[in-house]
Amino acid sequence: MSDTPSYILYDNPAEHVARITLNRPAQANSQDTHLLYQLNEAFDRAAHDDDVHVIILAANGKHFSAGHDLIEPLEDYPQNMGEHRTVFPLCGFGCAGAASQMAREEEIYLGFSERWRNIPKPTIAAVQGKCIAGGLMLVWPCDLIIASEDARFSDMTVTLGVGGIEYFTHVWEIGIRKAKEMLFTSDEFTAQQAQDWGMVNQVVPREALSQAAVDMAVKIARKPPFALKLVKKALNGSVDAQGRDIAMQNAFHLHQLAHTHNLKLYDQLIDPSGLSPAIRKGSG
Ligand code: ZN
Repeated sequence: MSDTPSYILYDNPAEHVARITLNRPAQANSQDTHLLYQLNEAFDRAAHDDDVHVIILAANGKHFSAGHDLIEPLEDYPQNMGEHRTVFPLCGFGCAGAASQMAREEEIYLGFSERWRNIPKPTIAAVQGKCIAGGLMLVWPCDLIIASEDARFSDMTVTLGVGGIEYFTHVWEIGIRKAKEMLFTSDEFTAQQAQDWGMVNQVVPREALSQAAVDMAVKIARKPPFALKLVKKALNGSVDAQGRDIAMQNAFHLHQLAHTHNLKLYDQLIDPSGLSPAIRKGSG
C-alpha cells in the first residue's frame, strides 16, 4: 500500500479522544479497497491505544461518503490485502466463480463493518452531505450519530439490481416500515427524518458538526472506560438477541445471489440500467 495515497487522517482533538477522518473529498469519500483497509487500520490503532476512550469518525469535504467506489474496476481489485482482519476465518479470495467476490465482500464490507461495530469503545459518526449506500456501512456501525442539517441518507441498491447493502441492519436502524420504503423506492431521507426515526442522536448546523462530535466524545470520555466497554457489549448483545446477526447473514447471502444474477445477465455485479452513463463497470 506504500504507493497508494492515504485516504485517512488521524488526530486527537481532545484528551482520550481519537478522530478518524475520511479524506478523499474529490471523490465524495467513495470507498475503494485501499480506503477501506486504511480505515480498518485506523480503527485498529484507536482500539489498541489504551489512552483513547472514544473514537470519532468524520469526513472531509461536502459529502460524508458516496458509498462503494463503482469506478474501481473489478479486475483491479487488490484481493485479500495482508492478513485477514475480520473476526471469522475466510477463504476463497483467489477462487473462480462467485467464491472470490463473496470472500471479498465478507471481508471488506460485512466483515469490516461488523468488526467496527464491535470495537469495545464508544464510537461517534459525524455526518454531513450525502451518505449513500456503502456510506451507511460506516455510519451504522458507530454507536452514536450526529448529523448536520444538510445530511441526506439513502440506500439505492435496489435501483442497481441488488437488494440492500451488505451490512443489512436497516430494520434495526429505522424500523421495518421505513426500511421497506427506503429500499423499495431508493429515496433519500433527511437528517431530521433520521432523528425522528431514532437513527440519529443530534442534528446540528453544518458549521457546528465537528465541535458537537468532540463535545459528545469528551463527555463520554470522562466515564470509566471499562464500564463503557461493558455497557456497549450489553447493549449490542441485546440487539443481537433479537436475531440481528442471523438476519444480516441471510440478507448477505441473498445479496451475493443478486451479484451472481447480474454477472450472468450483464457481466458485472450490478444492473447497469440503474447507473449513470459515466459508470459502467464496478462493484456494488
Ligand atoms: Zn455487494
